[in-house]
Amino acid sequence: MEPVPKQMPEEFPTKSHYGKLCVLEIPYLNFAQETCMGTMCVHEEIGSAVQALFAELYRIKFPIFSMQCSPWEKRPPQWFLFMNTIGYVDKKRTGKASLSHHAAGLAFDLNPHFNPLIWPERSIHIPPNSVYNPAAAGTVTKEIADICYKHGFLWGGVWHEKKDYMHFSWAESDKLVPELKPENAGAQFA
Ligand SMILES: [Zn+2]
Repeated sequence: MEPVPKQMPEEFPTKSHYGKLCVLEIPYLNFAQETCMGTMCVHEEIGSAVQALFAELYRIKFPIFSMQCSPWEKRPPQWFLFMNTIGYVDKKRTGKASLSHHAAGLAFDLNPHFNPLIWPERSIHIPPNSVYNPAAAGTVTKEIADICYKHGFLWGGVWHEKKDYMHFSWAESDKLVPELKPENAGAQFA
């Protein structure tokens, strides 16, 4: 896979339609277990929770392929979304007309190429040719989902109509942005 080009922090967006964003600098381990400095853009109210969550993933040596803010306000190219662990993206929900929690900086996708979005009824499988294999490094398992849950995020891997294994959204999103309801109300957290 191509490396992600570096972008300067001043190019990052500072607000969404739903409020202010903050750009976090987050240490993570790559797949060679080397410490890297990532950047992630999220709603400013959840910055400290996101920092704490990724600090815990760092401590358990969970590898992350790449973590860079999107320098594109709208429609980041697919190759960028597919390889990146990313928070804020100004986009619609996949297959739906409503805005995604990503558009408020209230969601992040973790290692998308190991944790696909699979929606059989609509023949959606993103990224193409990706496989969900819980035994592979960098894959979201119950252990990882539990850590994210502890820090306030719900996992798309337990949804019923589709599985969005890469996706985590803020459980109390409606308290920050009333238009955005918590995403997996009714789904059993396994
Ligand atoms: Zn997502």
